[in-house]
Amino acid sequence: MIGSTNTPAAAPSHFIRQRIDDDLKTGKNHSVVTRFPPEPNGYLHIGHAKSICLNFGLATDYHGKCNLRFDDTNPVKEDVEYVESIQEDVLWLGFQWHSLYYASDYFEKLYEFAVELIQKEKAYVCSLNSDEMREYRGTLTTAGRESPYRDRSVQENLELFQRMRQGKFEEGAHVLRARIDMASSNVNLRDPAIYRIRKAHHHRTGNQWCIYPMYDYAHCLSDMLEGITHSICTLEFEDHRPLYDWILDTLKTTVHPQQIEFSRLNLDYTVMSKRKLLQLVQEKKVLGWDDPRMPTLQGLRRRGFTPESLRDFCERVGVTKKESCIEMGFLETCVREDLDRIAPRSMCVLNPLRVVIENYPEGEVEELEVPNHPNRPEMGTRKVEFSRVILIEQGDFMENPPPKFFRLGLGREVRLRSAYFIRCHQVIHDPITGQVQELRCTYDSATRGGSAPDGRKVKGTLHWVSEAHSIQVEVRLYDRLFNVQFPGAGDQDFLTQMNPNSLEILKNCRAEKSLTQAPPESRFQFERQGYFCVDRWDSRPGHPVFNRTVTLKDSWAKEKNTSRNQSLTI
Ligand code: ATP
Ligand code: MG
Repeated sequence: MIGSTNTPAAAPSHFIRQRIDDDLKTGKNHSVVTRFPPEPNGYLHIGHAKSICLNFGLATDYHGKCNLRFDDTNPVKEDVEYVESIQEDVLWLGFQWHSLYYASDYFEKLYEFAVELIQKEKAYVCSLNSDEMREYRGTLTTAGRESPYRDRSVQENLELFQRMRQGKFEEGAHVLRARIDMASSNVNLRDPAIYRIRKAHHHRTGNQWCIYPMYDYAHCLSDMLEGITHSICTLEFEDHRPLYDWILDTLKTTVHPQQIEFSRLNLDYTVMSKRKLLQLVQEKKVLGWDDPRMPTLQGLRRRGFTPESLRDFCERVGVTKKESCIEMGFLETCVREDLDRIAPRSMCVLNPLRVVIENYPEGEVEELEVPNHPNRPEMGTRKVEFSRVILIEQGDFMENPPPKFFRLGLGREVRLRSAYFIRCHQVIHDPITGQVQELRCTYDSATRGGSAPDGRKVKGTLHWVSEAHSIQVEVRLYDRLFNVQFPGAGDQDFLTQMNPNSLEILKNCRAEKSLTQAPPESRFQFERQGYFCVDRWDSRPGHPVFNRTVTLKDSWAKEKNTSRNQSLTI
């Protein structure tokens, strides 16, 4: 049915799609033009990813356009560092903008529209100070009062506004206000300020301007100038929509984009406002915006999240008007599913314990041909060396194991992944600390490949590396940044709710030699440990540093269940 609809069958439907379908059907719009409008005052986070996927995704699906527009109307907080990182993140997520714009591109036009509003007696220069403004504005239950400056003549307003632009007044001396309705039940319509004086250097326009348009004023006009058809934003702007429409109606613009609101993405166990993220960075609670524990796109990327998994997450979370909080575990499920599919397997021992296989000939080395992925033969195989001295995980051995411990114990037999069965017959202790220092084992040469010809079974399979054929690597284990599900809720100081154990650095891990040249950002499943990614910044050729993206199973869900079970039994 080509031509009957622009919606591909596979795209999940939601209320915004339905609106667009209706608009195309009724002829209100003939194409779809959206925009993603970040303020360059911080790095993008996973919440922004939802907005990016929605705006760019709609443009792709409806064969329309999506612009990237920097909403750079507040010079005090903005910076080119942010402008650059935002572009990098959008591209990394897999989207390409049709045009790149800045609200500051429109400063001259926005000024002209403001002059037009003054001429239409729909805007005036108000000289109340900010305290007075607040007092005159009224409250949610009481009407506001009209400013004594509301009836200035057009001529006086034009002159004052021009002198504001010329820098003749101090910050705060005057503002330009829309002349709407001080009695409106919607406070946003009580003569909102649309221009203020700010003597600040702007990262693009320098010192050219000393008056800057307010967000509500600049946004609708920027949308209009770009021919945006559907201006999608988050729910907190719902009450601003009448102002959005008032400005365009009053200026009688030929293009009138429609604003549509959806609910923000919230995630538990983290914070998402840029203000709080900035605080974490500035107070050095994390190592930077791209700290792998941060919910920023730079952080998630460094942690090893794939763009595909983030897009999948945003799609599965859906688009609604209902406020909700998504579990961090769900984000982890999405990346786990993707990495399970794409990540080659490898072996890395995080806390090594030396094992000498006494009946294995000294000096002999076998090259085992090991598949890179259990279900994807097309991913090929790699060579893993086996020799007399191997390393296993300290946690995989117990001298006096309890019944359900299926790993190695004195006198017990286990399988080494892709290699042989080994049996432990002696434990060597550190003479001073008494800690287990080394194991003496024997192997069964008939079990190569992992099964015994006599059919005997072992319960455990361990990962391992050959001591002489492995490299030392640094591994960083990450956990949640906060200890509580909703940091900062109930007026708590979110900085006091941080998880002190969110980062564990292991410097003496031993990995398969095949990982020596693993390039930055390459991803692996370390057998039985989780998914890991080569750190983009701290790895050196031949010395990869690995970040744990996520464990193999949702250990938090297990913990929650255990505590639930415990509380049931108490
Ligand atoms: P924050 O509140 O985190 O500081 P913001 O809304 O001020 O973010 P902007 O740069 O203005 O950040 O956001 C750009 C776009 O991304 C806006 O359209 C905004 O609605 C959207 N956005 C921001 N946070 C979220 C979120 N958590 N979920 C969905 N969309 C979001
Ligand atoms: Mg904002």
